[in-house]
Amino acid sequence: MKKLLVLGAGTAGTIVVNKLRPKLDSEWQITIVDQDETHHYQPGFLFVPFGIYGENDVVRPRKDFIPSGIEAVCSTIEVIDPDKQRVELANGSNLEYDYLVIATGTHPRPAETAGLEGDAWRDTVHEFYSREGAVALAERLKTWEGGRLVVNIMETPFKCPVAPLEFTFLADWWFAEKGLRDRVDLIFATPLGEVFTKPIAASYLSHILEEKRVEVETDFYVERVDTDGSKLISYDEREVPYDLLVTVPVNMGAEVIGRSGLGDELNHVPVDKETFLSKAHGNVFAIGDAADLPTSKAGSVAHFSVEVFADNFPRYAEGLEMLERFDGHSNCFIESGHGKGLLIDFNYDTEPLPGKFPLPGIGPFSLLEETVTNHWGKMMFRWIYWNLLLRGRQIPLPAEMMMYGKVR
Ligand SMILES: Cc1cc2nc3c(=O)[nH]c(=O)nc-3n(C[C@H](O)[C@H](O)[C@H](O)COP(=O)(O)OP(=O)(O)OC[C@H]3O[C@@H](n4cnc5c(N)ncnc54)[C@H](O)[C@@H]3O)c2cc1C
Repeated sequence: MKKLLVLGAGTAGTIVVNKLRPKLDSEWQITIVDQDETHHYQPGFLFVPFGIYGENDVVRPRKDFIPSGIEAVCSTIEVIDPDKQRVELANGSNLEYDYLVIATGTHPRPAETAGLEGDAWRDTVHEFYSREGAVALAERLKTWEGGRLVVNIMETPFKCPVAPLEFTFLADWWFAEKGLRDRVDLIFATPLGEVFTKPIAASYLSHILEEKRVEVETDFYVERVDTDGSKLISYDEREVPYDLLVTVPVNMGAEVIGRSGLGDELNHVPVDKETFLSKAHGNVFAIGDAADLPTSKAGSVAHFSVEVFADNFPRYAEGLEMLERFDGHSNCFIESGHGKGLLIDFNYDTEPLPGKFPLPGIGPFSLLEETVTNHWGKMMFRWIYWNLLLRGRQIPLPAEMMMYGKVR
């Protein structure tokens, strides 16, 4: 038997086993491991604080998405030993492999920032990058009467780089709906020099922030949170006071990656950016947010990456050259409030550009433009995620980015 072991049954790991099972013959034993039995639809966390989704709308049993012919193990992964080609689990068992796929993601780590997890955590200091956080913030917003709401990013990279902007846009809409907008000051504080990493999209997005009367604090790299004084303090000793802080904590790869000596300083696994092959081990791949790819950490990237990987892996395991190359394709709807949204589509070489997607002139989606259709694209995505994407079914979105419809 040849053994393929997949670590992590989130977006990437689940699509990997669904795509590879039909491609690998019965000589292959495929095992997938995750630490809990519930799959989280993380893009849905954005909508929970505003009551658009409830907490049950963003979860499903993980087993519903694992196809037959796959051994699924529920346990925390303790250590990966690439020399012995073995993985130790918290349940006491060891799993051996011929090939390993690391898909353990990246996760919020509030403890990395001094003061963040003090007494004010989940009181005046909140986050929406976990289900518990999104639910606690929904409770807080129900009774919040206004003041300075600061949305801040602690460190880059973090998953879904547009999510804090979307939160800010939705907060503007939500407080307007409640008749509270005049009693709320919205502040967006980022360590970046602009509101987004890519200049053309940054200029569109900062224009929307301006229209919505959001104050922007750039180059704001938080050194500590003073929860007694309710303020963020940056390394250059600037201060941003808040009444309610909604933070994106430092994001780091799984601790097991660091413990096993497989990661960089943020526990992301260094890989070849076109094939996901580990730079250190010829039988280890890392895919999705777990990898150090120089593109967005996003579900769309996980999906397009797996398309490429699933075509390459059977050849690689036969000793043949990997023919497909990942171009860094990322595609993301950006909810902008008041029933509208934007869409961005880009890769390693081409930044998000305006235009139409996927068909030139027709769309139906507009790139870098607020439309109602883009909002419905975002809302439809949850159905596509549960019913098509996770199950590895074909969806009409090519892994490679297309220039059709884009305007330079
Ligand atoms: C608020 C928010 C909004 C988002 N919005 C979007 C969006 O609009 N569009 C988009 O494309 N993406 C979005 N994303 C990002 C997207 O959800 C992630 O990029 C995607 O889930 C990454 O998939 P992954 O498989 O790499 O990691 P994950 O889906 O996070 O899966 C990692 C898995 O590894 C498991 N694991 C980790 N460590 C261990 C261990 N030691 N032992 C056992 N199991 C372990 C975890 O339990 C988890 O199931 C959003 C994310 C958030 C938080």
